[in-house]
Amino acid sequence: MLKIKNLSSGYGKLKVLKQVSMHVKAGEIVAIIGANGAGKTTLLTTIAGLLRATSGEIEFRDRPITTLAAQKLPALGCVMVPEGRQVFAPLSVEENLILGGHVLRRQGRQLLAEQLAHQYELFPILHQRRQQLAGTLSGGEQQMLAMARALMSKPSLIMMDEPSTGLAPLIVQEIFRVIGRLREEGNTVLLVEQNAKAALTIADRGYVLETGKVILQGSAEDLLANRDVQRAYLGRE
Ligand code: ATP
Repeated sequence: MLKIKNLSSGYGKLKVLKQVSMHVKAGEIVAIIGANGAGKTTLLTTIAGLLRATSGEIEFRDRPITTLAAQKLPALGCVMVPEGRQVFAPLSVEENLILGGHVLRRQGRQLLAEQLAHQYELFPILHQRRQQLAGTLSGGEQQMLAMARALMSKPSLIMMDEPSTGLAPLIVQEIFRVIGRLREEGNTVLLVEQNAKAALTIADRGYVLETGKVILQGSAEDLLANRDVQRAYLGRE
């Protein structure tokens, strides 16, 4: 689904990603874990085309996308839920969702309505609040709206940047419950998380990013059992 080869990128003179190689297969949940500043967000924004790679290649569904304009990616089936949610605050929940589904418009109103119903089923709280302005939702509700909005376009790959940041434990549980359900429905997810334990518990595989390099990769099970990962990211000695 997604193949990344020797990808480097950064901000001006600051080199952040250094020769990162990784892949995501269809139907997998892949977690990227790493400390603050390791380059996790930079990796997602480079894949999404919001930041230009300085070298390396990105392929999405066997198509090179390294230099593709960011706004063209959703139509190909790759969407990102950015860190900090970024919902359209002055619009209602339902208006936000309909905007998320705009790439489906050509396929007819019926599909759009089905997708909307599906999101309300996944996130019942959004159905209760469908007329409420997105800017007045709680942080957890905004995170759910950002996820649901991305899912509206029936993406082949959904990339999530730190979905649990700043949320209360119960809401975090709810977010991870939905990510688990996405996998059951055959979705493919690339998940960036500081909450390494929750991410690896739900993921199939993972990559550990440190100062812009992949220092470790493997099955989520192996990473959870790895002493170095436990010490550095899971808070266990
Ligand atoms: P966090 O978990 O804290 O979000 P991260 O692993 O996602 O961390 P990045 O946000 O990718 O890390 O940041 C990697 C490095 O790039 C950091 O040193 C950061 O200061 C720098 N950086 C990020 N965004 C910019 C920017 N727009 N301009 C300049 N430097 C940036």
